[in-house]
Amino acid sequence: MQNAERMMPSDTEPTAEWDQLTRTIHACVRCPRLHAFRERVGEEKVRRHAEEDYWSRPVAGFGDPDARLIIIGLAPGAHGANRTGRVFTGDASGEWLYGTLHALGYASQPTARHRDDGLTLRDAYIANIVRCVPPDNRPTSAEITACAPYLAAEMSLLKNARVYLALGGLAFAQTLRFMQAQGLTTADRLKFRHGLEHPLTDGRQLLASYHPSQQNTRTGRLTMPMWEAVFARAKALTDTSEPHVGTPSAGDSQKS
Ligand code: SF4
Repeated sequence: MQNAERMMPSDTEPTAEWDQLTRTIHACVRCPRLHAFRERVGEEKVRRHAEEDYWSRPVAGFGDPDARLIIIGLAPGAHGANRTGRVFTGDASGEWLYGTLHALGYASQPTARHRDDGLTLRDAYIANIVRCVPPDNRPTSAEITACAPYLAAEMSLLKNARVYLALGGLAFAQTLRFMQAQGLTTADRLKFRHGLEHPLTDGRQLLASYHPSQQNTRTGRLTMPMWEAVFARAKALTDTSEPHVGTPSAGDSQKS
């Protein structure tokens, strides 16, 4: 796995499961609309990146396979991750995310500009619920469902996970669906709100934050103190929540 290999702590070897999962994600063409759109974005580009080759493929998760903190976003940014090939890399949302992860000791550097910039994560892993950039940042329900097995497969490999932090309402709803399918929550519904904390039945925690999109950060809906407070709480919970017993099965999770 390109990302996980690079992120492996020194005492951890990449596994065949991660490699296979990443190859499968990178080759996926399950959603015709998104397949066409991700390639079109890379052909049309934007002026500031006109000289660059866009990734324009599905973007796999990135981080430490032994992570206790799992961050779940929505989808690659058109000229961010869809360009660079690494989650939250190359756009303003990534500046918020990696800056904060660096301040808390999870990231080796505060910036994420391209996939070969040397950035590493320790004790944190980042994934999106949809691996291809959607038009207007709005995947359809069918596309979210089609991509769900990839998140489920990652969850099954992230055996040390203790805190799941979902960024934005769609990521939160999909993560909650996964937890429901696994029997990890008895809640039928939970209303998304920034700062929400939901204890799972096995002692782990589900948290929610507004997504650091410019739509939120430029309007003041999400301020840096609000954002940092959620991450500080997530970090505190990773140290105090119970290690889980048993590992979610990717097959079961596809029910979500
Ligand atoms: S969004 Fe997910 S399921 Fe759809 S084409 Fe991309 S990787 Fe495949």
